[in-house]
Amino acid sequence: MRQHLTNYHSHCNFCDGRAPMEDFVVSAIGSGFSSYGISSHSPLPDYIELYSVLRGDRVDDYIAQANELKEKYRDKIELYTGMEIDYIDDTHCPANEYFQSLDLDYRIGSVHFIKIGEREAMDVDTNFAHFSRMLQCYYGDDIRPLVCDYFDAKMRMVARGGFDFVAHPDKISLNALRRDPHITVQRWYQDKVQQYFRFIAEQGRMVEINTKAYLTEGLFFPNRQHFKLIGELGIPVVVNSDAHHPHLINAGREECFGELAAAGVGAVMELASGKWIEVAIY
Ligand SMILES: [Zn+2]
Ligand SMILES: [Zn+2]
Repeated sequence: MRQHLTNYHSHCNFCDGRAPMEDFVVSAIGSGFSSYGISSHSPLPDYIELYSVLRGDRVDDYIAQANELKEKYRDKIELYTGMEIDYIDDTHCPANEYFQSLDLDYRIGSVHFIKIGEREAMDVDTNFAHFSRMLQCYYGDDIRPLVCDYFDAKMRMVARGGFDFVAHPDKISLNALRRDPHITVQRWYQDKVQQYFRFIAEQGRMVEINTKAYLTEGLFFPNRQHFKLIGELGIPVVVNSDAHHPHLINAGREECFGELAAAGVGAVMELASGKWIEVAIY
């Protein structure tokens, strides 16, 4: 499928991406993309400092570099400057004054951490061994309250707003499924996810279908089992690869369109001349 060659969730070596920003842009042009967005991980609060995210003192350089590339390749591709902004709490979130003041074309709202107490947070997007140790430490090895806390944090983020789309809406399912391969078909889990997507629909937000784990795990975020509900609720979707390597900018996206269409989602959102527009999948 030559159409829908777009991606708005992409990292680079300003955060944990594995190549310079320009390499991703060159890859997008080489693959015939019509538009492309760079979205480094936002700076985090000082008590979460182990992670490869954009440093606060490099934010200006990051935006300047993205804007330079936008100019340089103006005739070849529409480039957009974005940021994947962590919701930690109602202070550190996409809606806050700092993130709203940045010269960005769009913002992604994301939850990778569950705040525990005043100055501590659990990384739910880490490798499974680390996840398991922290699940033991913070939740007495009980996965259910953690999963509920994750979706509740995302709903608080959705309520606060300040972003264009919700990143990887059920990313916690990756580690939750490793812990219990049947977790996503349990009644309480399905009820929680229903409540979550209904809230997103009520608030009029757009969600990402994230294809980053398709090649390695066969998974999309959200899980394909929720595509039908998303279609029924009429939630707009944007299909992104969350690429950390330039050769993976389109990975899993084509497969995703087929599955979305089969589940009754007939269109996706894309940026064109700076505006989100709905484009039919077929
Ligand atoms: Zn990343
Ligand atoms: Zn993310």
